[in-house]
Amino acid sequence: MLCLRDITYERNGRRILSEINMKFQEGMSYSILGPNGAGKSTIAQVLMGVVKPTGGEVLLDERDITGLNVTERARLGITLLWQEPARYDGITVKEYLTLGGKVKVDKNELKEVLELVGLPYELYAHRFVDKSLSGGERKRIELASLLLLRSRYAILDEPDSGLDITAGELIENVLEYFRKVGTTVILITHHEEIAAKTDFAYFVCAGRLLKKGFSREVVDYYKKTCGRCFLTGMVGD
Ligand code: ADP
Ligand code: MG
Ligand code: MG
Repeated sequence: MLCLRDITYERNGRRILSEINMKFQEGMSYSILGPNGAGKSTIAQVLMGVVKPTGGEVLLDERDITGLNVTERARLGITLLWQEPARYDGITVKEYLTLGGKVKVDKNELKEVLELVGLPYELYAHRFVDKSLSGGERKRIELASLLLLRSRYAILDEPDSGLDITAGELIENVLEYFRKVGTTVILITHHEEIAAKTDFAYFVCAGRLLKKGFSREVVDYYKKTCGRCFLTGMVGD
């Protein structure tokens, strides 16, 4: 189990996260729902070790991993899909997904995963992961790489952003695939209909955890209170 315990984060004297407590149990799927600026990406970065919290601990199977960096956490099976996808000049999609051939991936599996993220193998496997691909296409490719990694935890920071109208169905298929291979998903989004697709949800606003529980319940609460939260919920207040 992956846990955040009493996480607080301050940057330039400004409080970004306050007393965040979250638990992510294996075999379940989770979303972190909240408006823009709520602190969702910061939570992802605390989980991944990109950001070191000012207070509190990150625990994996009750071991304190707060001091571990990104590489060390990746080795323990924690991975992150960044909100902004990267470019890799001179590397093809297939090379990227197999780490230049270092990872043995069955062609059928590669095809299955690429098609799952909406990219036909024949059209994309030999394209370069550079600026000739749109942001949405690069995001799909990074998602495919996480699907193939079969890590313990996959944190997806707004996987639906930059994708088109079929994103809802795509996310459903992605969640199903992760469930099948035993990866626990932490899905970050500001879309309630996307958050409703996971088992459990955390609603975050202004750096605080406002509600947790079954996704349906959290989404209902979010719909009812979010307008008010925008008015009163300035981070640092
Ligand atoms: P979300 O992902 O929910 O949109 P973020 O975690 O990106 O929210 O941001 C939380 C808060 O931290 C916001 O108020 C944002 O303006 C601030 N913030 C994020 N990144 C930086 C940064 N590099 N420097 C200063 N403030 C930042
Ligand atoms: Mg944002
Ligand atoms: Mg964000």
